[in-house]
Amino acid sequence: MTASTLDPYALSRDGLADLVAELGEPTYRARQIHAWLVRGVDDPAEMTDLPTGLRERLSERFAPSRPELIGHTVADDGHTHKLLLRFPDGEAIETVLMLYPRRATVCISTQAGCAMGCPFCATGQAGFRRQLTAGEVVRQVVVADAALRSGVIDDQALPAGAPDHVTNVVYMGMGEPLANLPATLASVRWLHDPDGFDLSARGITVSTVGLVPGIRKLEQLGLPVTLAVSLHASTDELRDHLVPINRTHPLAELEATMRDYRRTTNRRVSIEWCLIGDVNDDDEQADRLGAIAARLRAHVNVIPMNPTPGVTWKEPTQARMRAFIERVRRRGAEATLRDTRGRDADAACGQLLASYTLGGGTRLPAAVGAADRVDALQLGDPPRGAGA
Ligand code: SAH
Ligand code: SF4
Repeated sequence: MTASTLDPYALSRDGLADLVAELGEPTYRARQIHAWLVRGVDDPAEMTDLPTGLRERLSERFAPSRPELIGHTVADDGHTHKLLLRFPDGEAIETVLMLYPRRATVCISTQAGCAMGCPFCATGQAGFRRQLTAGEVVRQVVVADAALRSGVIDDQALPAGAPDHVTNVVYMGMGEPLANLPATLASVRWLHDPDGFDLSARGITVSTVGLVPGIRKLEQLGLPVTLAVSLHASTDELRDHLVPINRTHPLAELEATMRDYRRTTNRRVSIEWCLIGDVNDDDEQADRLGAIAARLRAHVNVIPMNPTPGVTWKEPTQARMRAFIERVRRRGAEATLRDTRGRDADAACGQLLASYTLGGGTRLPAAVGAADRVDALQLGDPPRGAGA
């Protein structure tokens, strides 16, 4: 451990315990520091129940990576808040707070950008910029939780009746959580810690594009975290193009991994399906999806594709969406149309930063050129700008 390099939020409880031991302090100090961090206080000078000497020594050790709020958009009558947070090195990510009568859900990012290159996704088009640290992941929840506690966000009052703390966290913001396993697993532990945010594992959802080794690691964590898999296609031919990582981990392997996850955790898995007009909304895709979901007893969330800058694909007609869901259900699967929170504020999860910048990052080799091949399949208008 070198001096002044520690973001306190990047320290696990064990890390904090090691630190106080190193400073010759009793273990309970770690609990006190942890309690301050949970309340959003990361400046040792403000940790008033610690002895002054310890506060000074902690100040020498801590180099907090505090995000700055550089953008804020509100939608759904004040019930959805999209926050653009910039870290000291200049990288910006999005965090979305969604308020419901008895729930407050935060949608968090795990990477600045994403290397997976799904051609319908704004984050994918921008490419990968860098991993977030565990601390940077946790801080997004801290920011949202502090806003709920104070009832104010960025000088704006939250709607009356909003919960006063975060109840659910979904890893559905920028990036692929299982391509940043250390930060994802450490942050899940942080959020679940009974002395921390004390979120039930069931209230935490990790959404993945289907990185099989990562799902296995999540399974080994031993917590019944909800797993959501972004399927989007039920044949390898189509999925290879819509979700390029499918070429490495094809559907049969993914389905077996999801089945194992359900068995080990006893948790029902979810399937996410971004419905794109004339691309993945036909009867064959619906039938195969219904069969997969029925075998897995998974719940299917259908999300109409959000328009994204630079992509000409769009959501199907209302009638087509209804017909698609009906067809999936006929196979014995449960399927619902997910509410598209924040659309009017460009705030849907997975849509992050699109209106700010595009391009500049790196992409998985398999993803490069995916758009051209999709075009060759004559699935409709190809996305512009991807694969260039
Ligand atoms: N990388 C992870 C989590 C972040 S994306 C994953 O892909 O699962 C979160 C969700 O938003 C995914 O289901 C993704 O497919 C979806 N998404 C991305 N772009 C979208 C768009 N333009 N319209 C609707 N959903 C989109
Ligand atoms: Fe990455 Fe998820 Fe977007 Fe695919 S959908 S590019 S995995 S963020």
